[in-house]
Amino acid sequence: MIDGKMRLIAFCHNPKCHHNQALDLEAIKAKLGPDAPAMSDDLIPKLKCARCGGKQVGLTYTPDYDEMKRVDVNAYRKAREGR
Ligand SMILES: [Zn+2]
Repeated sequence: MIDGKMRLIAFCHNPKCHHNQALDLEAIKAKLGPDAPAMSDDLIPKLKCARCGGKQVGLTYTPDYDEMKRVDVNAYRKAREGR
């Protein structure tokens, strides 16, 4: 899976934060080693929120980049139109 097109998104469960961030599987692989398990149960204990530092982090897998693209495009449009 780590070599596929799967995209991992981490969500912070802190109600005051709700930070979410795409995880770079290549970075995880580099950090934890090529044999690192990519199952959320294994990864979650190693994660913490980059914004609030909370450990209440959930993971979701997306099968491709479509969702990321949509988010990026919306942010891009917003940025342009909000000038
Ligand atoms: Zn957070």
